[in-house]
Amino acid sequence: MTSLYDATRADFEIAFVDAPRYRIDQLWNGLYTQFLEPHDITTLPAAARAQLETSFQPALEPTVRTVADDGKTIKFLWRLADGGHPIETVLMYYDDRATVCVSTQAGCAMACGFCATGQAGFNRHLTAGEIIEQVARACREARSLDRRVDNIVFMGMGEPLANEPAVWAAVERIHGDIGISARHLTISTVGIVPGIRTLASRPLPVNLAVSLHAARNELRDELVPINKRYPIEELLDACRDYLKVKNRRISFEWALIEGVNDTMRDAKELHALCRQLTPTAHVNLIPLNPTPGWPTKGSSRNRVHVFRDTLLEFGTNVTIRSNRGTDIAAACGQLAAGQPVRITPAAPSRSARDSSHN
Ligand code: SAH
Repeated sequence: MTSLYDATRADFEIAFVDAPRYRIDQLWNGLYTQFLEPHDITTLPAAARAQLETSFQPALEPTVRTVADDGKTIKFLWRLADGGHPIETVLMYYDDRATVCVSTQAGCAMACGFCATGQAGFNRHLTAGEIIEQVARACREARSLDRRVDNIVFMGMGEPLANEPAVWAAVERIHGDIGISARHLTISTVGIVPGIRTLASRPLPVNLAVSLHAARNELRDELVPINKRYPIEELLDACRDYLKVKNRRISFEWALIEGVNDTMRDAKELHALCRQLTPTAHVNLIPLNPTPGWPTKGSSRNRVHVFRDTLLEFGTNVTIRSNRGTDIAAACGQLAAGQPVRITPAAPSRSARDSSHN
């Protein structure tokens, strides 16, 4: 059965073949602008609502809703109706905006050792509808507080560019039907070069964030294993091509790990990489969040500030990402949807750690 948010207008037109066109509009508005559950779309006659409920079902079953930061961070744990895999979505309210962080896969195959999703392994890709429904449900939640969602970040569980077709279909629906402009959508990637190239060929100007974490191959091979397949030079070429077409600034994410990637040498290497892009890349520093399978600590507050100040002195654009939801395991890299950690990766080898002190 096609899920509620995987269904296209054409699917609804076929299912409601005798209905006048405005009924399909009412249905579509109910789902995409009012974010209603089918039985609450009261512009539709009761019979149509009943038919909608039997023919198109939600793809996400609400399981646990956890709140932190005085109600400003909400983590949703869902179970996929098809197969039962758990996934998570995080809604973050700020004074002037609200952001939703969506998952694109149940689990992740990229195996970055410091990321709880990577530690738990891969289950399956999400469909476009499963991604869109996360957004719609978060919008429904925000609406109940008279808030609206302004930004979507594809930074939850999974690697978006390993599931690019579904992610792109979701982008189009979020932009075109929910009405959150592509400039407010950010796709974060571990650095899948062909995926970046495909994204560059897509029409809408979404933001690209690259999880860099190391600016030399020797260290990045260890922190982000896919670097062995797509090393930094190739990644940078793809970023350059993306910039050429989109002319949107790219951001580099950098989770600061004590003694591993927070030294003067790292700052210099990172600055040199940023300068190779025009416009120059923006660096987003993320103090490393604790995860069960990674023994190395995050950099201290002081060290995070020193690293930022060093980059600023070099002339690199840099901000420290505000950390939300660490106490409910909702922060960057902590989304494991309650799954046990399957592997315990080793911390970077002595050689990588020692050389980073140079
Ligand atoms: N797979 C994509 C989307 C996930 S985004 C990607 O890697 O970009 C999640 C971000 O949090 C990524 O930048 C990731 O590298 C970072 N991250 C992972 N584990 C983390 C941790 N323990 N602390 C801080 N950031 C982490």
